[in-house]
Amino acid sequence: MSETWNTRTKLVHEGSRRSQYGEMAEAIFLTQGFVYPTAEAAEARFVQAGADEFIYARYGNPTTRMFEERIAALEGTEDAFATASGMAAVSGALTSMLRAGDHVVSARALFGSCLYVLEEVLARFGVKVTFVDGADLEQWRAAVTPGTKAVFFESMSNPTLELVDIRAVSEIAHAAGALVVVDNVFATPIFSRAVDQGADVIVYSTTKHIDGQGRALGGVVCGTQAFVRKVLEPYMKHTGGSMSPFTSWIMLNGMATLDLRCRAMAESAKSIAQALQGHDKLGRVIYPGLDSHPQHALCMEQMGSGGTLVTFDIAEGKEAAFRFLNALEIAKISNNLGDAKTIATHPATTTHQRLPQDQKDSLGITPGLIRLSVGLEDAGDLIADLMGALERA
Ligand SMILES: *Cc1c(COP(=O)(O)O)cnc(C)c1O
Repeated sequence: MSETWNTRTKLVHEGSRRSQYGEMAEAIFLTQGFVYPTAEAAEARFVQAGADEFIYARYGNPTTRMFEERIAALEGTEDAFATASGMAAVSGALTSMLRAGDHVVSARALFGSCLYVLEEVLARFGVKVTFVDGADLEQWRAAVTPGTKAVFFESMSNPTLELVDIRAVSEIAHAAGALVVVDNVFATPIFSRAVDQGADVIVYSTTKHIDGQGRALGGVVCGTQAFVRKVLEPYMKHTGGSMSPFTSWIMLNGMATLDLRCRAMAESAKSIAQALQGHDKLGRVIYPGLDSHPQHALCMEQMGSGGTLVTFDIAEGKEAAFRFLNALEIAKISNNLGDAKTIATHPATTTHQRLPQDQKDSLGITPGLIRLSVGLEDAGDLIADLMGALERA
C-alpha cells in the first residue's frame, strides 16, 4: 500500500480490502465463486480478470489475495501465491517451472517431504537432480552447469541449523542461468533478506511461524510477478493446491504479530542456547546466533539473528533423550515448529525416522539429538524446565 511503510505497519495493514460495510477485521470471503453482473462481464473476466476481480476460489479469493499481498510486501517480492500447505508450495514451485530433461541441483539436507519431491517425483518425470552438501560452495560450483535450470535448498537446515550462503549460491546459479529456489521456513520471513541476497523464488510453509499458533496447514510461494502469475498460478489453479479463504484469514491474523513473535522467540532461543552451552549432560549445542557457532558470521550477515530454534545433543543417547523429553513440563513433545508453544522433537525417531543410518550420520542426526522450537513462554521458565528435565535425563 505504501512504499514508505516499515515492516510492522505492513504486517498489520498491507493488502487489506474492505467491503461496503467498512468492517475493521479482514473479512473471510467464504465463497467458492463470484456473481457477474452480466453475461458480457463474465465473458470479459474469463478473457482477462482485473486486479481485484475473481472467478473461482481455486484461482483466487479476496481473503487469500490480502494474505498474498501482505506476505509479498514483507518478503520484498513483486507477488506471491498462497497454497494449501508448505509442500504444495515446494512441489508447485518446482513442478511448475521444470520439464523432462531439466537439471536441478539441491542441497542434501532437506525436510523429508522435500526430499521425496526431488528424489522420487521429479525423477519420475525425467528431471535430473544432483545433491550437494549445501554448506560446501565447491560442491555447488562443481554441480551447477550451463544446463542447470534451478537450484534448491533450505536456507537453514533441519534439524542441525546449518546455513546455506544464499548470496554465494545465487551467484553460482545465476552465472549458469539457473533460478534460485529457497525453502526459507527456518529463517522466517522476518529474518529473511533472501531477495536482496539473490533468491528468485522463496517458499514458506505458513504452518510454522506465520500461523504461529499451530492451527492450520498452509504455504506460500513468493517471486516476480512474471513467475508467480505466468508460471506458478496456471499450474496451481489447475492442479488444485490453492489456500482456502479460511486458512488465509488465519494466516493474515498471524502476520499481524509475526515480527513481535519471531523476535521474542529468537531472543529466548539465544538465552536458552547460552544456558545450555557447556552443560555436562550435553554434547553439541547448536545455535547459529552464538559467537562460538562456526557459521555465526554468515548467520548474522544473512539473517541478522540466530533464529527461533536450538538443537542440542544429549550425550548419553536415545534413552537419556527420551527421559529428558518425558520429564519436560512446559515444552511439548511434538514436531511442528514456530509455534507459540515450545516444542521438543527427537528427529532420529520421528521426523527423520525413515532415513537410513548412513544418511542420519552424514546429516548429524545423532541418537541423543533434540530440536527445540522456542515458543513465547517466559525464557526463565523454559530454562528451568529444560534444566530440570536434563537433571532427570
Ligand atoms: C514444515 C516444512 C515444510 C512442509 O510444510 P507443510 O506445511 O507441513 O506442508 C517444508 N519445508 C520445511 C523446511 C518445513 O519445515
